Amino acid sequence: MVPAQRRSVLISGASIAGPTLAFWLDRYGFDVTVVERAPTIRTGGYPIDVRGTAIDVVERMGLLPQIRTAHIASRAMTFVDRAGKIIGSVPIYEAIGSDTERDVELPRGTLTTLLHDATRNGDVDYCFNDSIDTLRDDGKGVDIGFAGGRQARYDIVIGADGLHSRTRRLVFGPETPFNHSLGFCFNLFSMPNDKGLSHGGVVHAEPGRTAAIWAVQDSPRVFGFLAFSTDEAPVSASRDAEEQIRRTRAAFAGMGWEVPHLLDAMAQADDLYFDSVSQIRMPHWSTRISHT
Ligand SMILES: Cc1cc2nc3c(=O)[nH]c(=O)nc-3n(C[C@H](O)[C@H](O)[C@H](O)COP(=O)(O)OP(=O)(O)OC[C@H]3O[C@@H](n4cnc5c(N)ncnc54)[C@H](O)[C@@H]3O)c2cc1C
Repeated sequence: MVPAQRRSVLISGASIAGPTLAFWLDRYGFDVTVVERAPTIRTGGYPIDVRGTAIDVVERMGLLPQIRTAHIASRAMTFVDRAGKIIGSVPIYEAIGSDTERDVELPRGTLTTLLHDATRNGDVDYCFNDSIDTLRDDGKGVDIGFAGGRQARYDIVIGADGLHSRTRRLVFGPETPFNHSLGFCFNLFSMPNDKGLSHGGVVHAEPGRTAAIWAVQDSPRVFGFLAFSTDEAPVSASRDAEEQIRRTRAAFAGMGWEVPHLLDAMAQADDLYFDSVSQIRMPHWSTRISHT
C-alpha cells in the first residue's frame, strides 16, 4: 500500500508561536517548513511567564525540566518617587498573581531558543533570512513566492509572524481594521547595570507614563522600559525608530528619577524593541481551501 502523502505546511515566523506549532504539526504527521525574516532566532526581550495551560503544553513537549532550570526567580518590584525614594515594594509573584509552585519566569530568548532546539533536529525545515513575498491560494493549495526568489507550493500556510503579521495582510488585507489600540505604547532596550540591580525591578510611574529598570538575576545588563499612553496612531507598524524615540522623549519630558538617563540609553540602544499595546480582533482567523 502506498503511504498517504504528508500534507505540507508553511509557518511564517520563528519566535514562540511558530516553533511551538511546528513541533505539534510535525508530531501529527505534517511536513513542516518555518520561514523567518531574521537571520537567526531573535533572542531579545523581557522575561516571559509560562503559566497555566502553557505549562501543560511545555510539559507535553517534554521541555518542562529545561524550562524550570531557566527560571529566573525574580524577587521584588520596588516603586520609587521622582527623587528615587522608595515608596514601597511588592514580591513579584504576589503582584502578578502567580502560582509559585508551578509557574516559570524565563528570559524570552531562552524560551525561543529552547523551542527552536526542540524542533530543528527533527523533520522541521527552517529557512532564515527569508519571508513570504507573494501568496496565491487557488483553492487546492497555496503558491508562495519567497522574498529570496524561491517558489514553492504548500497545502496550508500559517502566519505566526506577530502583531503586524505580513501573512495576515496578504490574506485578509491591511492591519488597520483589525488592530484595536489599547491606548499605550512601550519601548524596551538593554543598558549597563550601573546601579547594581539584582533579581527584580524598580518602577517610577505617573498617570499615563511608566518607567522601569529590570534586572534578570545579577546580569551585567538590565532592561530599560518606557511606556506611555497615546491617542496617536502607533508607529510600530512602520517601524520608524527615530519617530518612536521622538514621541517617547516628548511623552516623558520633565519626568524625574532615572528617566533622562533611560531616554538617552533608549536612543543609543542597538536592541530597541517597541510596539503599541493592541489587540488583533478578526471575525475569523482562516480562509478555507476546498479540496474537491
Ligand atoms: C525580539 C523580540 C523581543 C520581544 N520582546 C518583548 C517584550 O519584552 N515584551 C513583550 O510583551 N513582548 C515582546 N515581544 C513580543 C512577544 O514575543 C510576542 O508578542 C508573544 O510572545 C507572541 O509571540 P509570537 O510568536 O506570536 O510573535 P512574535 O514574538 O512577535 O514573533 C514574530 C516572529 O515573526 C518574525 N517575522 C515578522 N515578520 C515576518 C515576515 N514577514 N516573515 C517572516 N518572519 C517574520 C519575527 O522576526 C519574529 O521572530 C518580543 C518579540 C520579539 C521578536
